[in-house]
Amino acid sequence: MKTGKIIDIECGCGFKLFRYFKAGKGRIIKCFIRRLEADYVGLEGMDNFSKPLCPKCHKELGIIMMIRGQPALKLNQGTIKDVRI
Ligand SMILES: [Zn+2]
Repeated sequence: MKTGKIIDIECGCGFKLFRYFKAGKGRIIKCFIRRLEADYVGLEGMDNFSKPLCPKCHKELGIIMMIRGQPALKLNQGTIKDVRI
């Protein structure tokens, strides 16, 4: 059975960025864009190597890149509020 949990990912400033299905446990390093349940930033359709910004505080959230053939956001750990499950 596949384990996982839906979590809200927030910026350090408190803005809610995404709702994401996290498979397994541990720290979130990257988010596969197709696995976002809600996208309050608008990652869908962004180009590879784009650096999306927090709509509220305008800090860089990370960088879009292909991971195992799928577009994903590699999170900037300094910006994203630490979430552990
Ligand atoms: Zn922010």
